[in-house]
Amino acid sequence: MGGKLAVISGFSGAGKGTVIKKLMEEHDGYVLSVSMTTRRPREYERDGVEYHFVTNETFEGLVRQDGFLEHAGYVDHYYGTPRAFVEENMRAGKTVLLEIEVQGAMQIREKFPEAVLIFVAPPDAAELQRRLRGRDTEKSDLVIKRLEQALTEVRSIPEYPWLVINRDVDDCARDLDRILSGDPGVCVPQGGPENAGIITDQDRKRSFAQDFSGGLERVLAES
Ligand code: 5GP
Repeated sequence: MGGKLAVISGFSGAGKGTVIKKLMEEHDGYVLSVSMTTRRPREYERDGVEYHFVTNETFEGLVRQDGFLEHAGYVDHYYGTPRAFVEENMRAGKTVLLEIEVQGAMQIREKFPEAVLIFVAPPDAAELQRRLRGRDTEKSDLVIKRLEQALTEVRSIPEYPWLVINRDVDDCARDLDRILSGDPGVCVPQGGPENAGIITDQDRKRSFAQDFSGGLERVLAES
């Protein structure tokens, strides 16, 4: 198949959707896979745009027909990537973006070793909490659930070859494009001013994950 497959993971509510939107507005050649989910739409969400919203029966039927590239359970609901859209767009030479969580990302890594896996994270746990609270559709118990989920996911950061820190939407979208377009300058120098948002070094990813995890525990203890 011609095009690339790119997985963008990150804590729910951390702003990765906004970054992906920016990436597609500013750069050509990207398409976003619309996932299927059994969760209810938020107020602003439209069926077929943010997600295909389906019942458990429909979802399970498609699982049986091998209609998903990957699928996973997340905070009480199913989420999955419909296979046909991805395969068609890759054949057309597009870079297909999958905005999916960690379990799904690991399934993609198994099936498509050449897929580019990127984890997008806010600078620290306090900022994640601020962004979750700022999304006023989320009730406070849901915010806590999502922070607890983040505590599980943070351990997987070192599994991703690329960690991108999302301090600013424009910078973050540009970083994603540099990685996905194979900009040869993107790997070096580590931590230099040009690459401040991109971390590939395994030790630095681990220490970021540890600090973030400690921060989440503090934030949760205070919630
Ligand atoms: P939300 O309910 O906040 O829209 O999404 C919850 C989580 O599910 C996010 O981390 C999101 O990236 C992930 N997600 C969305 N679609 C899919 C999918 O098709 N497969 C998997 N594995 N995760 C998904």
